[in-house]
Amino acid sequence: MSDSLEDNWHVQKIEDLFLRFQTSEVGLTTQQAELKISETGPNLLKEKGKKSKWLMFLLQFKDVMIVTLIVAAIISGIVGDLKDTIVILFIILLNAVVGFVQEYRAEKAMEALKKLALTNTKVFRDRVVKQIPASFLVPGDIVQLEAGDIVPADLRIIELHSLKIDESSLTGEAFPVEKNLKVIGDPKTPIGDRYNLAFKGTVINYGRGKGLVVATGMNTAIGKIAEMLQEEEAVTPLQKRLAHFSKRLSFIVLGICVLIFVSGYFRGEDPIKMLLTSISVAVAAIPEALPAVITIALALGAKNLVKKNALIRKLHAVETLGSVTFICTDKTGTLTQNKMQVVDYSPVGQDQPSGHIPVKDEELLLLAISLNQDTEENKDGDLLGDPTEIALLTYAFEQPRFDSTWEDRFERIHELPFDSDRKLMTTVHELERGFVLVITKGAIESIAEICINQKAIAEAVKNAESLSANGRRVIAYAYRIIEVELGSLPERLEENLILLGIIGMIDPPREEARKAVADCLKAGIKPVMITGDHPLTAKAIAGELGIITGPSDLMMTGVELANLKEEDFEKQVHDIRVYARVSPDQKLRIVKALQNKNEFVAMTGDGVNDAPALKRANIGIAMGITGTDVSKESSHMILLDDNFATIVQAVKEGRRIFDNIRRFIKYVLTCNTAEIWTIFLAPLIGLPIPLLPLHILWINLVTDGLPGLALANEKAEKDIMTRPPRHPSESIFSNGLGVHVLWVGLLMGGISLSVQAWAVHIGNAHWQTMVFSTLCFSQMAHVLVIRSDKYSLFQQGLFTNLPLLGAVVLTFALQLMIVYVPFLQTIFSTQALSLNELMICILSASIILLAVEVEKFFKRVNRKSNNIKISG
Ligand code: ATP
Repeated sequence: MSDSLEDNWHVQKIEDLFLRFQTSEVGLTTQQAELKISETGPNLLKEKGKKSKWLMFLLQFKDVMIVTLIVAAIISGIVGDLKDTIVILFIILLNAVVGFVQEYRAEKAMEALKKLALTNTKVFRDRVVKQIPASFLVPGDIVQLEAGDIVPADLRIIELHSLKIDESSLTGEAFPVEKNLKVIGDPKTPIGDRYNLAFKGTVINYGRGKGLVVATGMNTAIGKIAEMLQEEEAVTPLQKRLAHFSKRLSFIVLGICVLIFVSGYFRGEDPIKMLLTSISVAVAAIPEALPAVITIALALGAKNLVKKNALIRKLHAVETLGSVTFICTDKTGTLTQNKMQVVDYSPVGQDQPSGHIPVKDEELLLLAISLNQDTEENKDGDLLGDPTEIALLTYAFEQPRFDSTWEDRFERIHELPFDSDRKLMTTVHELERGFVLVITKGAIESIAEICINQKAIAEAVKNAESLSANGRRVIAYAYRIIEVELGSLPERLEENLILLGIIGMIDPPREEARKAVADCLKAGIKPVMITGDHPLTAKAIAGELGIITGPSDLMMTGVELANLKEEDFEKQVHDIRVYARVSPDQKLRIVKALQNKNEFVAMTGDGVNDAPALKRANIGIAMGITGTDVSKESSHMILLDDNFATIVQAVKEGRRIFDNIRRFIKYVLTCNTAEIWTIFLAPLIGLPIPLLPLHILWINLVTDGLPGLALANEKAEKDIMTRPPRHPSESIFSNGLGVHVLWVGLLMGGISLSVQAWAVHIGNAHWQTMVFSTLCFSQMAHVLVIRSDKYSLFQQGLFTNLPLLGAVVLTFALQLMIVYVPFLQTIFSTQALSLNELMICILSASIILLAVEVEKFFKRVNRKSNNIKISG
């Protein structure tokens, strides 16, 4: 890194920097910021160059078989039939256009998702704090920082309270760095020791503060090192398996194509025609595009999920959502409404007068509420911040003894922010004559440990237990007065405190959560509550929501978990439905234990310490509203409404998307198999090659084209949330898919060949057009009948997937045009069929519909008898 003045933000005085950026502690005006951003550009790191549209289109031709076909078609054009060559090239082009449009739509969908996932930051603009996208920051802006934030730009810190930053992404240093405000003398100080700076992309681990933006975008330290952000291209498990499968299948198909060519050659067919035929079969039958099509289906699925308030960050989450067996969720805000209200207010009478505090003893608890909190008022007078503190303060405001001047009179000089490990928050305020007031609030057990008035504590603990058992959230307050010698505070503030009182709040369960929990249980998914709250509160809420239904559903506290050996924990982990008073690092242990038991775990989180568990979970879910940047960054999916019911909705949608992907695979592979059987078997039973290369390519276009894609619109099956989760490593060919592909493919081929054999036998000159149409119609019948795995088309209703019906009607109409429009007849070498001949094609194709309906009928019967056996 260079040593220019630009990089030496750490050696300059804050006032000089203010002057330099024409700013102050209250930041810039919107107008100033707008002017600056036109000079500096957005605060973004450059991403690796994206594919241009042209490149994306050209890459549609990268498949070796397509290139071979183009070459073969050109050769055949030169030595023979130019018309065929032109049509072949046209169909290949059409295929590429379909591929391109799909890929482009998918990319747009992903871009839109990425934009939604961009982080916001709190910045002073026009003297008030506003939430804006971090990309809008400019040098001179003043931003607020708190635990869990990702530092949005390079900053000179101008105010801090116990600020610790994890800079490992920049320096590799594993331990968080404690920051301070001191000007550093040496310009050459290594970046890791520039304690008065905060760097873009690093993580606020603890505390809070304010910073002056000194560099943005590529001018930041990380921008200079990284130069360009390499987006990793994640391949989903299904894509991996399909790519592997396609590769193996291509060898088999190529083998068959060679056989088709050789046998045709020895039968004395035109070698060029045989070459084109066999390459067309290869192009049509090798499902090269399957992994790409899966990406498209997943991306479009992710787009749909946003409408249901689930924002996908990692595409594979869409695919794996359907496999979730455990959903481990926070309580507050996810299962409950996060709209707290104080319902019990129990101050403790003070034995000794509080002396140095100039308020009455009975006002002490209200004073504590007023001082120990970080809420802020927006310009409409609404309180913003932690819902617990908002509830406490709202209650305090309504009390006649509350004095709104307290906050100004008792200036805060120090604080230990709330964290879910300590379950405490402490603030220190100036009193007169060298005394300070320490106020601590937190969980009753944590407060009990640091208080000295034991009698009052014993009573309060009892009181808190009875409140908790009624589902109340309890906060205890305590205080202490310290004489400060030489202006420095003692090292340990949170000890020797005096209990002030306890307060009970209600936080009602979300209305939709109860149903969502019941849906989970029906779908074979176990919901588990993990909370920092009191065990009795947790148990009461879990009971109300149906998470705990009987004695077999266990509860465990953080302390119990800490004392358990791994093997013992794993023995019980299946049955534990509630974890209470756990610290965030224990979440990781829970995920690991469940995964060791082969469970597939979704885990929610919002705080900075939740990140490891979110990363490790099979689906890490961050909260969109209350979640920190770090939790969002570590997640696979973000809940835009922080609602548990949304997770269950997303699982349902994930299952639907996966079902539709399976249907698409079923459709494509069955059609491909049918094409191979038709071409391969004809000569073996003494028939001429049934289709021209053009016909094969057209049918392939139809298969991969509209009808196949419209399958993605299929609605969820009725039983989608009453069947058990799909095992993530379950083969795509399980549940009869592989067998279906083989027998229906063979049947389709058999039907086409029977039509051919019959027509050839009676000397019908239209036999080729008949085979061509029968095969095309069979595929249409097939796509309609596989819309459900179990339910018949009549149970499902023909009109319940209109895009698919439209695609089938359109394809049918196109096929009729190819058969009847004279111009197209010349191009496709077809002949007009008589009504009788056309009916024969349609009726033969409908055999597929009937046959698959019979298959589904047996599936239904089987399922019923299995159900009877289970319930018997
Ligand atoms: P969940 O993990 O389900 O969201 P939670 O929000 O109750 O549960 P924490 O935020 O870790 O979990 O809170 C744990 C306990 O800490 C609460 O029961 C409460 O007693 C106490 N507490 C919560 N918020 C504060 C706060 N702002 N200041 C002091 N103590 C708090």
